[in-house]
Amino acid sequence: MALLIKNGEIVMVGARERADIFVEDETISRIGRNLEVPPGTETIDASGKLVFPGFIDPHVHIYLPFMATFAKDTHETGSIAALIGGTTTYIEMCCPNRNDDALQGYELWKSKAEGKSACDYAFHMSVTKFVKETPGQLRQVVADGTASFKIFLAYKNFFGVDDAEMYQTLRLARQLGVIVTAHCENAELVAQLQQKLLSEGKTGPEWHEPSRPESVEAEGTGRFAAFLENTRATGYVVHLSCEPALKAALGAKERGVKLYIESVLPHFLLDKTCAEKPGVEGMKHVMSPPLRAKKNLGVLWSALDRGLIDTVGTDHCPFDAEQKLLGKDAFTNIPNGIPGIEDRINLLYTYGVKRGRLEIERFVDAASTRPAKLFGLFPRKGTIAIGSDADLVIYDLDYHGVISATKHHVNNDYSGFEGMVIEGRPAVVTVRGKVQVKDGKFVGERGRGRMLKREPSYF
Ligand SMILES: [Zn+2]
Repeated sequence: MALLIKNGEIVMVGARERADIFVEDETISRIGRNLEVPPGTETIDASGKLVFPGFIDPHVHIYLPFMATFAKDTHETGSIAALIGGTTTYIEMCCPNRNDDALQGYELWKSKAEGKSACDYAFHMSVTKFVKETPGQLRQVVADGTASFKIFLAYKNFFGVDDAEMYQTLRLARQLGVIVTAHCENAELVAQLQQKLLSEGKTGPEWHEPSRPESVEAEGTGRFAAFLENTRATGYVVHLSCEPALKAALGAKERGVKLYIESVLPHFLLDKTCAEKPGVEGMKHVMSPPLRAKKNLGVLWSALDRGLIDTVGTDHCPFDAEQKLLGKDAFTNIPNGIPGIEDRINLLYTYGVKRGRLEIERFVDAASTRPAKLFGLFPRKGTIAIGSDADLVIYDLDYHGVISATKHHVNNDYSGFEGMVIEGRPAVVTVRGKVQVKDGKFVGERGRGRMLKREPSYF
């Protein structure tokens, strides 16, 4: 199966050129002007359109038992939504809880994706306790091609690790050459503040943010950095949401701590007033770290544009309105999460690139190239180069639309970004040379996605 993409303008980190791309056997074999191709080659005319490397979402939840329920997507629905939005690879958090066996959890998470995902995928392995079996189990997981871990400083007694467990995990990660991603909030402060607020009769979703204020995240970020500093491991803060946490992370980087920063889509576009809406409307906007005071949004955009924030993920995690209502009597029972897997690229492009907040090559870097580099997928993914997988997004700059749950493909009855305008969307999306999406429709092969095996590289 050969494919020619003609006349598009390729946009990558450090390069922008008009050229044709020829694909054979799933990978890019030639790039140049006026390529001669064999008869019968499928040809797509990309005149007037941009061609990006397939986008990578470094932080999603598809299968997730959490807060007495399950996130709504399957790999079938989640991957189709991802592809329609231009994401050709996602990295899912494999999240067995403290009471689960880690290896059984890992196999369970893999089984949910295998043969179901229409895009390629990988996992971050959560370490939710550190017991005597843990080092051997984690070595097996790394040998299986999952070369990144996740720890939670939050969610005490469920996903959360204590400081001793964090130290052990980072020491092992350092030995294994594995990067450790971390949810940085102080679990004890969150637990105490939640109880205080509830005891004062403050039960609505508007109290979620005050139960985990910016200082709680800044403390978690700073503590994670200190543990990295003293173990010489490499870390990655997930979903950094506010200026005090950013300062803690950047201060650590200045001292030479090996630390990378991710922020996620909702924190660039939504603020805490969304979660202050009464009833279920507010609950739909509950995630952790919470949506913040509006002044943080400009800080995050600026840091992203300057490359101080490395990557943009989504923390995609769909719970529907009925599930959100589990928290109608106490905000502590609202399942945390906002879906975003389908909207990340179009919203970043519209509100970042088009509005002049984000330089276009940095956009490609943050949403594709840097996640590929940080998580061992480069140059197979994250670039348009000879030998790379032909994951390509042909982007239509003339498209105008409005985000709505009535039209989206995520398996959820609301969108966190309802009513927002988008100016641009993928016209064609390929995964390893096969057209999977055309003009907002999935036209490809279900279950075609492969688990991407990754080598440790942080030695
Ligand atoms: Zn997450």
